[in-house]
Amino acid sequence: MPRPSRRSRTLRRVFKKVTKGVKLVYKKRKPKPSHCSNCGAVLKGIPRERPYKMMNMPKSRKRPERMFGGILCSKCSRREIIKRVRK
Ligand SMILES: [Zn+2]
Repeated sequence: MPRPSRRSRTLRRVFKKVTKGVKLVYKKRKPKPSHCSNCGAVLKGIPRERPYKMMNMPKSRKRPERMFGGILCSKCSRREIIKRVRK
């Protein structure tokens, strides 16, 4: 019987290719995709990576470089900009 921590699905199971076939490796799961704070839609252009990978990533690859990029989806940000201009 595998050890208790290997029995749960907390860690992701990855079959890694090695010279003698495949080896089972346990990895941590990726975080959930980020969502729009207004409508809750999944945000595009934002990588789903663990913090240590996000730290080494350039800022421009982490979110769209526009107003409300990484906070609102494109539809909501368009609506928000129009609303603010009209005010
Ligand atoms: Zn939205």
